[in-house]
Amino acid sequence: MGQPTGRMAAQSHLSPDGSVSLATGRLRDSYGRQITDLRVSITDRCNYKCVYCRTGQKGAQYAELSAADYLRLIRIFLSLGIEKVRLTGGEPLLRRDLPEIVASIRVMRTETGHAPEVAVTTNGHLLEDLAVPLKQAGLSRVTVSMDAVDPETFERITRIAGSFEAVGRGIEAAQRAGLDPVKINCVLLRGFNDDQVEAFAGFARKHQVVVRFIEFMPLEEDRLWTPQMVVPLTEIVQRIGNVYPLIPLPETVAGETARRYGFADGIGEIGIIAPVTQAFCGACSRVRLTSDGKIRTCLFSHREHDLAMLTRQGASDDELRSAILNAIRTKEERHHIGEPGFLKPSRSMVHIGG
Ligand code: SAM
Repeated sequence: MGQPTGRMAAQSHLSPDGSVSLATGRLRDSYGRQITDLRVSITDRCNYKCVYCRTGQKGAQYAELSAADYLRLIRIFLSLGIEKVRLTGGEPLLRRDLPEIVASIRVMRTETGHAPEVAVTTNGHLLEDLAVPLKQAGLSRVTVSMDAVDPETFERITRIAGSFEAVGRGIEAAQRAGLDPVKINCVLLRGFNDDQVEAFAGFARKHQVVVRFIEFMPLEEDRLWTPQMVVPLTEIVQRIGNVYPLIPLPETVAGETARRYGFADGIGEIGIIAPVTQAFCGACSRVRLTSDGKIRTCLFSHREHDLAMLTRQGASDDELRSAILNAIRTKEERHHIGEPGFLKPSRSMVHIGG
Protein backbone atom coordinates (compact mmCIF):
# COMPACT_ATOMS: atom_id res chain seq x y z
CA MET A 1 0.00 0.00 0.00
CA GLY A 2 1.22 3.53 -0.66
CA GLN A 3 1.90 5.89 2.18
CA PRO A 4 -0.07 9.08 1.61
CA THR A 5 0.66 11.82 4.09
CA GLY A 6 -1.94 14.52 3.57
CA ARG A 7 -5.62 14.94 2.83
CA MET A 8 -5.04 15.00 -0.94
CA ALA A 9 -3.09 11.80 -0.63
CA ALA A 10 -5.92 10.25 1.36
CA GLN A 11 -8.37 11.17 -1.35
CA SER A 12 -6.17 9.36 -3.84
CA HIS A 13 -7.21 6.19 -1.99
CA LEU A 14 -10.67 6.62 -3.43
CA SER A 15 -11.27 4.63 -6.58
CA PRO A 16 -12.06 6.63 -9.74
CA ASP A 17 -15.54 5.09 -9.93
CA GLY A 18 -16.20 6.23 -6.37
CA SER A 19 -16.98 2.70 -5.17
CA VAL A 20 -15.14 3.38 -1.92
CA SER A 21 -15.86 6.54 -0.04
CA LEU A 22 -15.42 7.81 3.48
CA ALA A 23 -19.20 7.64 3.81
CA THR A 24 -19.37 3.97 2.84
CA GLY A 25 -20.07 2.98 6.43
CA ARG A 26 -20.16 -0.75 6.86
CA LEU A 27 -17.09 -2.68 5.85
CA ARG A 28 -17.78 -4.89 2.87
CA ASP A 29 -15.13 -6.51 0.71
CA SER A 30 -15.19 -6.87 -3.05
CA TYR A 31 -16.89 -10.29 -2.72
CA GLY A 32 -19.76 -8.77 -0.74
CA ARG A 33 -18.67 -10.16 2.62
CA GLN A 34 -19.44 -7.93 5.56
CA ILE A 35 -16.43 -7.53 7.84
CA THR A 36 -17.53 -7.38 11.46
CA ASP A 37 -14.70 -9.10 13.39
CA LEU A 38 -11.39 -7.43 14.17
CA ARG A 39 -8.57 -9.53 15.60
CA VAL A 40 -5.87 -7.44 17.18
CA SER A 41 -2.49 -8.90 18.04
CA ILE A 42 -1.31 -6.80 20.96
CA THR A 43 2.07 -8.48 21.15
CA ASP A 44 3.94 -11.16 19.27
CA ARG A 45 5.81 -12.17 22.42
CA CYS A 46 4.79 -15.52 23.85
CA ASN A 47 5.68 -17.49 26.98
CA TYR A 48 4.95 -20.88 25.37
CA LYS A 49 6.75 -22.75 22.62
CA CYS A 50 3.95 -24.89 21.26
CA VAL A 51 5.47 -27.33 18.79
CA TYR A 52 2.98 -26.46 16.04
CA CYS A 53 3.42 -22.70 16.45
CA ARG A 54 6.76 -21.33 17.69
CA THR A 55 10.23 -22.78 17.62
CA GLY A 56 11.06 -20.77 20.74
CA GLN A 57 14.41 -19.91 19.18
CA LYS A 58 13.33 -16.45 18.14
CA GLY A 59 11.69 -13.89 20.40
CA ALA A 60 9.34 -11.15 19.36
CA GLN A 61 9.99 -10.00 15.82
CA TYR A 62 7.66 -7.06 15.52
CA ALA A 63 7.14 -3.82 17.41
CA GLU A 64 4.13 -3.31 19.63
CA LEU A 65 1.97 -0.24 19.28
CA SER A 66 1.23 1.88 22.31
CA ALA A 67 -2.17 1.32 23.92
CA ALA A 68 -3.19 4.77 22.65
CA ASP A 69 -2.37 3.82 19.05
CA TYR A 70 -4.27 0.51 19.25
CA LEU A 71 -7.24 2.28 20.79
CA ARG A 72 -7.33 4.93 18.12
CA LEU A 73 -7.22 2.35 15.34
CA ILE A 74 -9.83 0.15 17.04
CA ARG A 75 -12.15 3.14 17.43
CA ILE A 76 -11.81 3.87 13.72
CA PHE A 77 -12.49 0.24 12.79
CA LEU A 78 -15.60 0.32 15.01
CA SER A 79 -16.83 3.45 13.26
CA LEU A 80 -16.76 1.47 10.01
CA GLY A 81 -18.86 -1.48 11.16
CA ILE A 82 -16.66 -3.74 13.28
CA GLU A 83 -18.76 -5.23 16.08
CA LYS A 84 -16.43 -7.68 17.80
CA VAL A 85 -12.84 -7.16 18.84
CA ARG A 86 -10.68 -10.12 19.81
CA LEU A 87 -7.36 -9.40 21.50
CA THR A 88 -4.77 -12.03 20.78
CA GLY A 89 -1.09 -12.42 20.04
CA GLY A 90 1.53 -13.73 20.76
CA GLU A 91 0.29 -14.07 24.31
CA PRO A 92 -1.96 -11.08 25.09
CA LEU A 93 -1.77 -11.57 28.87
CA LEU A 94 1.92 -10.62 28.68
CA ARG A 95 0.74 -7.03 28.07
CA ARG A 96 0.43 -5.54 31.54
CA ASP A 97 -2.00 -2.93 30.28
CA LEU A 98 -4.44 -5.53 28.92
CA PRO A 99 -7.25 -4.79 31.44
CA GLU A 100 -6.99 -1.06 30.67
CA ILE A 101 -7.09 -1.79 26.94
CA VAL A 102 -10.20 -3.97 27.41
CA ALA A 103 -11.92 -1.32 29.54
CA SER A 104 -11.13 1.41 27.01
CA ILE A 105 -12.60 -0.61 24.14
CA ARG A 106 -15.73 -1.45 26.08
CA VAL A 107 -16.64 2.22 26.46
CA MET A 108 -16.32 2.77 22.71
CA ARG A 109 -19.34 2.41 20.47
CA THR A 110 -19.90 0.43 17.30
CA GLU A 111 -21.26 2.10 14.19
CA THR A 112 -24.74 1.13 15.38
CA GLY A 113 -24.19 2.61 18.84
CA HIS A 114 -23.57 -0.54 20.89
CA ALA A 115 -20.71 -1.41 23.20
CA PRO A 116 -18.45 -3.72 21.17
CA GLU A 117 -17.99 -7.31 22.23
CA VAL A 118 -14.42 -7.79 23.47
CA ALA A 119 -12.86 -11.25 23.68
CA VAL A 120 -9.38 -12.52 24.47
CA THR A 121 -7.61 -15.63 23.18
CA THR A 122 -4.92 -16.74 25.63
CA ASN A 123 -2.82 -19.73 26.52
CA GLY A 124 -4.22 -19.26 30.04
CA HIS A 125 -0.86 -19.38 31.81
CA LEU A 126 -1.39 -16.00 33.52
CA LEU A 127 -5.17 -16.13 33.67
CA GLU A 128 -5.40 -17.19 37.31
CA ASP A 129 -4.37 -13.67 38.39
CA LEU A 130 -5.93 -11.76 35.52
CA ALA A 131 -9.40 -13.31 35.23
CA VAL A 132 -10.99 -10.99 37.79
CA PRO A 133 -9.35 -7.76 36.51
CA LEU A 134 -10.35 -8.70 32.96
CA LYS A 135 -13.94 -9.44 33.96
CA GLN A 136 -14.07 -6.14 35.87
CA ALA A 137 -12.71 -4.38 32.79
CA GLY A 138 -15.73 -5.65 30.89
CA LEU A 139 -14.27 -8.59 28.99
CA SER A 140 -17.13 -10.38 27.27
CA ARG A 141 -15.55 -13.78 26.79
CA VAL A 142 -12.29 -15.70 26.91
CA THR A 143 -10.93 -18.56 24.83
CA VAL A 144 -8.14 -20.61 26.37
CA SER A 145 -5.89 -22.72 24.18
CA MET A 146 -5.36 -26.18 25.59
CA ASP A 147 -4.15 -28.93 23.34
CA ALA A 148 -4.35 -31.96 25.63
CA VAL A 149 -6.16 -33.08 28.76
CA ASP A 150 -3.29 -35.36 29.63
CA PRO A 151 -0.56 -33.38 31.48
CA GLU A 152 2.39 -35.13 29.82
CA THR A 153 1.04 -34.70 26.31
CA PHE A 154 0.19 -31.08 27.10
CA GLU A 155 3.70 -30.24 28.27
CA ARG A 156 5.26 -32.08 25.35
CA ILE A 157 3.35 -29.61 23.16
CA THR A 158 3.86 -26.37 25.13
CA ARG A 159 7.45 -27.30 26.10
CA ILE A 160 6.92 -25.46 29.41
CA ALA A 161 7.09 -27.33 32.73
CA GLY A 162 4.09 -26.73 34.97
CA SER A 163 1.99 -25.38 32.12
CA PHE A 164 -0.80 -27.93 32.50
CA GLU A 165 -1.49 -26.99 36.12
CA ALA A 166 -1.20 -23.25 35.41
CA VAL A 167 -3.70 -23.41 32.55
CA GLY A 168 -6.08 -25.54 34.62
CA ARG A 169 -5.98 -22.91 37.39
CA GLY A 170 -6.52 -20.20 34.78
CA ILE A 171 -9.63 -21.90 33.39
CA GLU A 172 -11.09 -22.35 36.86
CA ALA A 173 -10.36 -18.72 37.74
CA ALA A 174 -12.09 -17.57 34.54
CA GLN A 175 -15.17 -19.61 35.41
CA ARG A 176 -15.18 -18.32 38.99
CA ALA A 177 -14.85 -14.75 37.72
CA GLY A 178 -18.02 -15.26 35.69
CA LEU A 179 -16.45 -15.16 32.23
CA ASP A 180 -19.07 -17.02 30.29
CA PRO A 181 -18.67 -19.00 28.17
CA VAL A 182 -15.10 -20.14 28.70
CA LYS A 183 -14.12 -21.77 25.44
CA ILE A 184 -11.18 -24.07 24.89
CA ASN A 185 -9.26 -24.16 21.60
CA CYS A 186 -7.54 -27.44 20.81
CA VAL A 187 -5.38 -27.78 17.72
CA LEU A 188 -5.15 -31.46 16.80
CA LEU A 189 -1.97 -32.83 15.30
CA ARG A 190 -1.70 -36.38 14.07
CA GLY A 191 0.93 -38.19 16.10
CA PHE A 192 1.06 -35.56 18.87
CA ASN A 193 -2.35 -35.27 20.48
CA ASP A 194 -4.90 -36.92 18.21
CA ASP A 195 -5.42 -39.55 20.90
CA GLN A 196 -7.00 -36.83 23.07
CA VAL A 197 -10.21 -36.36 21.09
CA GLU A 198 -12.56 -38.55 23.11
CA ALA A 199 -11.03 -37.49 26.43
CA PHE A 200 -11.54 -33.84 25.47
CA ALA A 201 -15.23 -34.49 24.88
CA GLY A 202 -15.41 -35.94 28.40
CA PHE A 203 -13.52 -32.89 29.73
CA ALA A 204 -15.98 -30.51 28.03
CA ARG A 205 -18.90 -32.29 29.66
CA LYS A 206 -17.33 -32.53 33.10
CA HIS A 207 -16.02 -28.97 33.30
CA GLN A 208 -18.83 -27.26 31.36
CA VAL A 209 -16.56 -25.66 28.83
CA VAL A 210 -17.10 -25.43 25.09
CA VAL A 211 -14.23 -27.20 23.33
CA ARG A 212 -13.39 -26.13 19.80
CA PHE A 213 -11.14 -28.49 17.86
CA ILE A 214 -9.13 -26.70 15.21
CA GLU A 215 -7.57 -28.28 12.14
CA PHE A 216 -3.83 -27.62 11.98
CA MET A 217 -2.97 -24.97 9.37
CA PRO A 218 0.41 -24.36 7.70
CA LEU A 219 1.23 -21.28 9.79
CA GLU A 220 3.95 -22.65 12.04
CA GLU A 221 7.46 -21.23 12.40
CA ASP A 222 8.94 -24.66 11.81
CA ARG A 223 8.29 -26.85 8.81
CA LEU A 224 6.04 -29.36 10.47
CA TRP A 225 2.80 -29.16 8.52
CA THR A 226 1.81 -31.88 6.10
CA PRO A 227 -1.72 -32.73 4.97
CA GLN A 228 -1.35 -36.03 6.83
CA MET A 229 -0.92 -34.20 10.14
CA VAL A 230 -4.37 -32.63 9.86
CA VAL A 231 -7.07 -34.45 11.82
CA PRO A 232 -10.19 -33.77 9.73
CA LEU A 233 -13.58 -32.69 11.00
CA THR A 234 -15.25 -35.91 9.79
CA GLU A 235 -12.92 -38.06 11.90
CA ILE A 236 -13.42 -35.92 15.01
CA VAL A 237 -17.21 -36.04 14.74
CA GLN A 238 -17.23 -39.75 14.13
CA ARG A 239 -14.90 -40.60 17.00
CA ILE A 240 -16.69 -38.44 19.56
CA GLY A 241 -20.06 -39.65 18.29
CA ASN A 242 -19.01 -43.24 18.96
CA VAL A 243 -18.61 -42.41 22.65
CA TYR A 244 -21.10 -39.58 23.15
CA PRO A 245 -23.83 -39.37 20.48
CA LEU A 246 -23.87 -35.92 18.84
CA ILE A 247 -26.48 -33.85 17.09
CA PRO A 248 -25.56 -30.98 14.73
CA LEU A 249 -26.54 -27.56 16.08
CA PRO A 250 -27.65 -24.59 13.96
CA GLU A 251 -25.43 -21.53 13.57
CA THR A 252 -25.83 -18.98 16.34
CA VAL A 253 -24.64 -16.22 14.01
CA ALA A 254 -24.43 -16.21 10.23
CA GLY A 255 -21.03 -17.32 8.99
CA GLU A 256 -19.98 -18.95 12.27
CA THR A 257 -16.56 -20.53 11.79
CA ALA A 258 -17.14 -23.51 14.07
CA ARG A 259 -19.46 -26.36 13.13
CA ARG A 260 -21.30 -26.99 16.38
CA TYR A 261 -22.53 -30.29 17.76
CA GLY A 262 -24.52 -30.83 20.94
CA PHE A 263 -24.22 -33.96 23.05
CA ALA A 264 -27.46 -35.86 22.49
CA ASP A 265 -28.12 -36.03 26.25
CA GLY A 266 -28.07 -32.21 26.39
CA ILE A 267 -24.87 -31.95 28.47
CA GLY A 268 -22.85 -29.35 26.59
CA GLU A 269 -21.48 -29.00 23.08
CA ILE A 270 -18.32 -29.14 21.04
CA GLY A 271 -17.30 -27.26 17.92
CA ILE A 272 -14.94 -27.96 15.08
CA ILE A 273 -13.14 -25.29 13.09
CA ALA A 274 -12.13 -26.91 9.83
CA PRO A 275 -10.27 -24.35 7.72
CA VAL A 276 -8.37 -27.09 5.86
CA THR A 277 -10.97 -29.74 4.97
CA GLN A 278 -14.10 -27.57 4.99
CA ALA A 279 -12.89 -24.04 4.39
CA PHE A 280 -15.31 -21.29 5.34
CA CYS A 281 -13.69 -18.41 3.44
CA GLY A 282 -17.00 -17.60 1.73
CA ALA A 283 -18.39 -16.50 5.08
CA CYS A 284 -15.21 -14.90 6.43
CA SER A 285 -16.00 -11.75 8.39
CA ARG A 286 -12.50 -11.14 9.76
CA VAL A 287 -9.74 -8.65 9.43
CA ARG A 288 -6.55 -8.66 11.46
CA LEU A 289 -4.33 -5.94 12.88
CA THR A 290 -0.79 -7.06 13.70
CA SER A 291 1.14 -5.91 16.75
CA ASP A 292 3.11 -3.50 14.54
CA GLY A 293 -0.04 -1.95 13.14
CA LYS A 294 -0.49 -3.68 9.80
CA ILE A 295 -3.79 -4.88 8.39
CA ARG A 296 -3.93 -8.46 7.19
CA THR A 297 -7.07 -9.33 5.30
CA CYS A 298 -6.45 -13.10 5.47
CA LEU A 299 -4.29 -15.36 7.63
CA PHE A 300 -2.61 -16.38 4.39
CA SER A 301 -2.19 -12.89 2.90
CA HIS A 302 1.05 -12.09 1.15
CA ARG A 303 0.54 -8.36 1.52
CA GLU A 304 -0.02 -6.12 4.49
CA HIS A 305 -1.35 -2.58 4.79
CA ASP A 306 0.64 -0.36 7.09
CA LEU A 307 -1.61 1.73 9.32
CA ALA A 308 1.13 2.38 11.88
CA MET A 309 3.21 4.16 9.27
CA LEU A 310 0.23 6.32 8.34
CA THR A 311 -0.32 7.26 11.99
CA ARG A 312 3.36 8.13 12.37
CA GLN A 313 3.02 10.36 9.31
CA GLY A 314 0.19 12.21 11.00
CA ALA A 315 -2.76 10.73 9.09
CA SER A 316 -6.17 12.00 10.16
CA ASP A 317 -8.97 9.66 11.23
CA ASP A 318 -10.59 10.07 7.81
CA GLU A 319 -7.34 9.16 6.08
CA LEU A 320 -7.02 6.04 8.23
CA ARG A 321 -10.67 5.16 7.49
CA SER A 322 -9.98 5.49 3.82
CA ALA A 323 -6.87 3.28 4.10
CA ILE A 324 -8.86 0.62 5.95
CA LEU A 325 -11.64 0.64 3.36
CA ASN A 326 -9.10 0.23 0.59
CA ALA A 327 -7.34 -2.61 2.38
CA ILE A 328 -10.65 -4.41 2.88
CA ARG A 329 -11.34 -4.15 -0.83
CA THR A 330 -8.25 -6.29 -1.47
CA LYS A 331 -9.40 -9.11 0.83
CA GLU A 332 -8.59 -12.43 -0.75
CA GLU A 333 -11.48 -14.57 -1.99
CA ARG A 334 -10.12 -17.66 -0.22
CA HIS A 335 -6.99 -19.39 0.97
CA HIS A 336 -5.17 -22.02 -1.09
CA ILE A 337 -3.97 -24.48 1.56
CA GLY A 338 -2.97 -27.78 0.01
CA GLU A 339 -3.16 -26.55 -3.59
CA PRO A 340 -0.15 -26.74 -5.93
CA GLY A 341 1.94 -23.59 -5.60
CA PHE A 342 0.61 -22.76 -2.12
CA LEU A 343 3.05 -20.47 -0.35
CA LYS A 344 3.07 -19.96 3.40
CA PRO A 345 2.77 -16.31 4.41
CA SER A 346 5.96 -14.62 5.57
CA ARG A 347 4.64 -14.31 9.14
CA SER A 348 3.69 -17.33 11.20
CA MET A 349 0.56 -17.50 13.38
CA VAL A 350 2.27 -16.21 16.54
CA HIS A 351 3.39 -13.08 14.66
CA ILE A 352 0.08 -12.55 12.86
CA GLY A 353 -2.26 -13.01 15.79
CA GLY A 354 -4.39 -16.14 15.84
N1 SAM B 1 -1.17 -17.17 22.89
C1 SAM B 1 -2.59 -17.22 22.70
C2 SAM B 1 -3.09 -18.63 22.70
O1 SAM B 1 -2.30 -19.55 22.91
O2 SAM B 1 -4.30 -18.81 22.55
C3 SAM B 1 -3.09 -16.48 21.47
C4 SAM B 1 -2.33 -16.63 20.21
S1 SAM B 1 -2.43 -18.24 19.48
C5 SAM B 1 -1.48 -17.95 18.00
C6 SAM B 1 -4.11 -18.27 18.95
C7 SAM B 1 -4.65 -19.63 18.55
O3 SAM B 1 -4.05 -20.04 17.35
C8 SAM B 1 -4.41 -20.73 19.56
O4 SAM B 1 -5.62 -21.36 19.87
C9 SAM B 1 -3.48 -21.66 18.83
O5 SAM B 1 -3.67 -22.98 19.22
C10 SAM B 1 -3.88 -21.43 17.39
N2 SAM B 1 -2.86 -21.81 16.42
C11 SAM B 1 -1.55 -21.48 16.43
N3 SAM B 1 -0.93 -22.01 15.37
C12 SAM B 1 -1.87 -22.68 14.67
C13 SAM B 1 -1.85 -23.45 13.46
N4 SAM B 1 -0.72 -23.60 12.78
N5 SAM B 1 -3.00 -23.99 13.04
C14 SAM B 1 -4.15 -23.82 13.74
N6 SAM B 1 -4.23 -23.11 14.87
C15 SAM B 1 -3.11 -22.55 15.33
